[in-house]
Amino acid sequence: MHPGNPSKLLFTPGPLTTSNTVKEAMLRDLGSLDSDFLATVRSVRTRLLALGPYPAEEYECILMQGSGTYVVESVISSAIPRDGKLLALVNGAYGRRIAQMARVHGIALDVLEVEENRKFTAELVASHLASAEGITHVAVVHCETTSGMLNQVEEIGPVVRAIGASYIVDAMSSFGAVPIDMAGAHIDFLISSANKCIEGVPGFGFILANRRALHAAKGNARTLSLDIYDQWAGMEADGHFRFTPPIQTILAFEQALNELDEEGGVRARGERYRQNHLALCSGMRALGFEIYLADEDQSFIITSFRYPTHPAFQFAEFYERLWKLGFAIYPGKLSHEVCFRIGTIGRIMASDIEALLAAIQRVLQEMGVADMREAIGLDLRR
Ligand SMILES: *Cc1c(COP(=O)(O)O)cnc(C)c1O
Repeated sequence: MHPGNPSKLLFTPGPLTTSNTVKEAMLRDLGSLDSDFLATVRSVRTRLLALGPYPAEEYECILMQGSGTYVVESVISSAIPRDGKLLALVNGAYGRRIAQMARVHGIALDVLEVEENRKFTAELVASHLASAEGITHVAVVHCETTSGMLNQVEEIGPVVRAIGASYIVDAMSSFGAVPIDMAGAHIDFLISSANKCIEGVPGFGFILANRRALHAAKGNARTLSLDIYDQWAGMEADGHFRFTPPIQTILAFEQALNELDEEGGVRARGERYRQNHLALCSGMRALGFEIYLADEDQSFIITSFRYPTHPAFQFAEFYERLWKLGFAIYPGKLSHEVCFRIGTIGRIMASDIEALLAAIQRVLQEMGVADMREAIGLDLRR
């Protein structure tokens, strides 16, 4: 469609590569009150709950305009009452961002921060909670996209429940590919967005909320537009968004859900991503790259690779050369280590990973970094 300016393959933490059929679903004008659109909104809300499955007697789905951060902020600024106190579990930039939201909104805050290569486990959180006071809410990131770390959200849940606190999980980059047991993990608010593992385009996010916890949020919000209770109540009353919805994004999202079903659901999608990740890691290791995290802590969502020590390696040049070949990788975001990241989510197949590895090998040779590693037999003419 744009011959002079073709799409890149995106190996990023999102927005991601999407299918043509998802993009084509946007080629329609609809008003925000049209019955077609309202039916799509209803269906999307129901289908998100069905992915768990998260039983409709116990859980509600709220759609919220904005990027993922807006949706996390809608929960942080709505769920916690004036006399509440949030414990933010931080082992990366997204956890740190949650703590920052609490500060901006004047919410009482306790932060438990560990190194970015260390994962949160039940023991770690329990030992902190044993001496902490007045915690009413605990927030954690599931896949900390900063590093690729997968925190143990399901094991931490019972520890949070044991002190009677409410549990908020940012599952932005994992929902739709990693099954999450909301009920078993006592998760009250599970947050994700359109443009991650569901493979839609950017523009809104969603919250799956335990109904009791959602009702408890009534009147707590510190903002008008990000009030999750009002957003939900409005949608329940007449099916409408309170303010202009991202119509085309939601149409694309409905198609993305169809394609998730066609692929075989959350487990099948996770399996494709896992195969992408395994192929990427073995190819990159063969090229001489080191992976930042230990294998047992690493998700299949995104992987951080240490910069090679070879003096000819410059990340900006490496990135630019790959970009010109049609591959977008991602800079690092770690506080103390120089890494870059490669995502393995989105409409990316095994053949795309092979093509990326071949391009990386070629770029390393062009940059004169090739002598740090043996050729791995990839076909460079591809
Ligand atoms: C992508 C992401 C977000 C949201 O980022 P936006 O740029 O606002 O979409 C939040 N948390 C995690 C863990 C993410 O991966």
